[in-house]
This record gives sequence, structure tokens and C-alpha cells, in this order.
Amino acid sequence: MFKIGCHLSSSDGYLAMGKTAVSIDANVFQFFTRNPRGGAVKPLDLEDIAAYNAFARENGIAEILAHAPYTLNPCSDKAHLRKFARDTMADDIRRLEHVDRAMYNFHPGSHVGQGTEAGIEMIAAALNEVLFPEQKTLVLLETMAGKGSEVGGRFEEIRAIIDKVMLADKLGVCLDTCHVYDAGYDIVGDLDGVLAEFDRVIGLERLKAIHINDSKNPFGSHKDRHETIGNGALGLEALKAVINHPRLRNLPFYLETPNELEGYRQEIALLRGLYEEA
Ligand code: FE
Ligand code: FE
Ligand code: ZN
Repeated sequence: MFKIGCHLSSSDGYLAMGKTAVSIDANVFQFFTRNPRGGAVKPLDLEDIAAYNAFARENGIAEILAHAPYTLNPCSDKAHLRKFARDTMADDIRRLEHVDRAMYNFHPGSHVGQGTEAGIEMIAAALNEVLFPEQKTLVLLETMAGKGSEVGGRFEEIRAIIDKVMLADKLGVCLDTCHVYDAGYDIVGDLDGVLAEFDRVIGLERLKAIHINDSKNPFGSHKDRHETIGNGALGLEALKAVINHPRLRNLPFYLETPNELEGYRQEIALLRGLYEEA
């Protein structure tokens, strides 16, 4: 079964997102856990979550991806911002424990000049503080474009973080097609080679989700600007190969392209048309 969906607004709650997803023929979706710029969060609405869980079961909605605010920085050089990142992640995970088939995705962070190794240490320390043995929510580290002082642009950096986390069985990876191409992994010319490298360095069993985006910028640009499907540097053929690759085709795919709902509906239909049923 092809699991395909897109980023949705979470402002009206879980049940509303589920209904919106179904209305555009999506069977997975992503959303921000709170305002991506600030930290404001609505009170936990257990009735909405229970209604969503029932709706998702009835309508065949699979894994959903809760995206941490992208302003969180667990490896900031300021202690209060590191604490804010940890507190926010802990609260997000605690809330997600109520939601069926939810995973939690976050950007590892930016070391802001402290160096990649120091950044890796602080990111792992944050995870060691927030993860707990009974949690069922899987936490995904997103592969980054390597913009500025971003950590996570190299597979080795993701692996180094995982290696320092005690409850590493709670961790997975989300591969963003725009980010890895911008980072210098040629998924257009050599998808098999990139996946072999991912497998060697991280292990493909860690790969739990794909952000399926085209890129506005050329290979290795370290920019991170998403483009609509088929209209960027990756192109339709490369993205078709990604969704059909035997090692990827059963994963959930989430569009984060610059679109309103109608654009997402069209891209979901386009990708469904390109997916080869086994
Ligand atoms: Fe992201
Ligand atoms: Fe992404
Ligand atoms: Zn991005």
C-alpha cells in the first residue's frame, strides 16, 4: 500500500486533520506540534484525539508525523534555549503518547559555531534527558541540507548522535529528498549508491519516513529550499524512482512542497499515478 500525504495545518486539531487528509486522498500526514516559530501550544484535547484515533482506524490512516517547531535548537550556545528545546520535546512526546501511530520528527540543531562534535554531544544529551523507557512514540532525526552550522547534513553525524543515546531503540531517521540532495547525496544520479551509504553508516532499518520534496537549488548547494514535485533540480523521474525503490516503497511519504491544499491534492494524485503497485 502506498502511504502518501502532506503537511497539514494543525490549528483545528487531530480529527480535522484526519478529515482533511481523507478529502485529498492522503493516508498519512504531517503537522507542526505547535507554532513553528514560537512555543505556544493548545491544551491537550483528549476528546479530539480519541475521535481522531477512531476516525484514523475507520479510514485507513497510517503513520502520522508530528514535526517539532523548526526553531528548537538542542545545541544552542545559550543554556536557556537548550532547556527550552528539551522541555518542548519532552512535552510534545508526552502528548503524542495518546495519539495512534504517531512519530515525532525534529531537526537535530545548529551548533552556531561551537563545532559539529559539540553539537552532537548536546543533541544526544537532550535526547538522553527526554526519552523514557515506556514511550511508544518513535523520535526521528531529520537529514538536513547542511546549511550554515546545521548538524545532520552528513549521515555520519546522525549516526554519531544515535550512538550516544541510551534509549536508541526509540530513535529513527526521516530522509528529506530535498535536504539530502542539497547536502551532496546524489539521489538523482545514484539512488542505489546513496541508500547503500545510508545503510553502511546508519542502517536502513532506522529509516522510518521520507519527506518527498523537489529542490529549488542545484546538487550540493546546502540551501534547503523546497520546490513543487517535478519542477526542481530533482525532477519527476528521480522522485518516481524514490517512491518505487524496493527499500523505500513501503515507508510513509510526506510532501512538504510549497503548496496550498489543492496543490497537495494534485501532487498526491500525480505520485499515486507514478507508484507501481507490486
Ligand atoms: Fe523538517
Ligand atoms: Fe523536511
Ligand atoms: Zn527543508
